[in-house]
Amino acid sequence: MERVVLIRYGEIYLKGQNRPYFERALYDNIRKALAEFPGIRVTRAQGRFYAENYKDEAAVLQALQKVFGLVSVSPAYKVGKDFETLFEYSKKIMTDQLSLLQGREILTFKVESRRSDKKYPMNSMEINREMGGRLLEAVPGLKVDVHHPDVVLNIEIRESGYLYHEILPCAGGMPVGTSGKAVLLLSGGIDSPVAGYMIAKRGVALSAVHFHSFPYTSDRSREKVIDLCRILTRYCGAIRLHVVPFTRIQQELYKKCPDSQLTVLMRCYMMKIAEAVARSEEAAALVTGESIGQVASQTMDSLAVTNAAVSMPVFRPLIGFDKVDIVNVSKKIETYETSILPYEDCCTVFTPRHPVTHPRLEKILESEKRINGEELIQEAVANIEVIGIRPGRNRF
Ligand code: ATP
Ligand code: MG
Repeated sequence: MERVVLIRYGEIYLKGQNRPYFERALYDNIRKALAEFPGIRVTRAQGRFYAENYKDEAAVLQALQKVFGLVSVSPAYKVGKDFETLFEYSKKIMTDQLSLLQGREILTFKVESRRSDKKYPMNSMEINREMGGRLLEAVPGLKVDVHHPDVVLNIEIRESGYLYHEILPCAGGMPVGTSGKAVLLLSGGIDSPVAGYMIAKRGVALSAVHFHSFPYTSDRSREKVIDLCRILTRYCGAIRLHVVPFTRIQQELYKKCPDSQLTVLMRCYMMKIAEAVARSEEAAALVTGESIGQVASQTMDSLAVTNAAVSMPVFRPLIGFDKVDIVNVSKKIETYETSILPYEDCCTVFTPRHPVTHPRLEKILESEKRINGEELIQEAVANIEVIGIRPGRNRF
């Protein structure tokens, strides 16, 4: 007997000739997500993956549930196919489940079996009936309920026998890396990590850019962004985080441009620098955590101006989300607690008292000319600090 995890993936994106490509990517991503479990073995057979040879099953399951492209996982017993062995472990599963019942005395169940080994002497109906009957006889407290059972005992007969009673949902989506690469503008806030998660879910690999304003922003706020990246890597795989020194540009804008336009102008420069990073990372798009109307810099007019600052497509997956919805996702993906740590952000340092809410592009372009933009961008890019962050390391 061995414990294994059955790993199922969706069929929808496995279109014809792309199948081996997606399966390969998924295999690689599973391996990377499980890199921290020494000795673990991942194999593929008959349209699913198996993980074997591990100690901490709960941790393995948790890591797998975050891999995009997977549909569900089941922790299982891998045993011999002969009926007596299957019965022995079925009995064990049902007895264990019964012992978890608190106060109740009856556990309802049904047996669901499948066999891909057509030479097996019993068909699935016969296995269901025989196993159900034998369990009822052997384990007091069980009762069959085919409609709403407490426990569905799954029996699969393949090259071995597999027994399990749990089907745990995974993150869905598509394997990261199969849809190209984008650069995420990652602040320390709630929204941008969620935006990155959503784009990665569609199979896009991420690099991240963070702007910081040393000495106005502290090392702690930089660490916070590294922590957010680390959480995101559980879903997105490795991320190269680019930390951009932004103070010079902010100071120049502050000195030379109208106060009310500061936020929009800063956004434009963030976009331009992110675009330069995207080119060097061979990424094809930018991603932000903006949604319409959330703050002054996120009106449609402001978004139009920041779009015009770059030629690359800018994806804003949260565009139609209310804040509460974003917060809910952020809690689900476990970035929330880190996002709400109260460290200063580079934008709050230079926030205008009365920001324009409906900036006109001509005016912004005019203001932009007041600083030596090209040179400042080059300087910022030349001083970028790149931090490679991998899943599974330095977990907290
Ligand atoms: P978030 O919660 O992501 O910070 P927000 O609602 O606070 O979003 P803003 O601060 O206006 O919104 O920022 C809008 C978007 O601009 C962010 O979602 C992010 O993509 C980008 N952004 C803002 N500040 C930074 C920064 N310091 N570094 C990188 N990107 C940033
Ligand atoms: Mg913010």
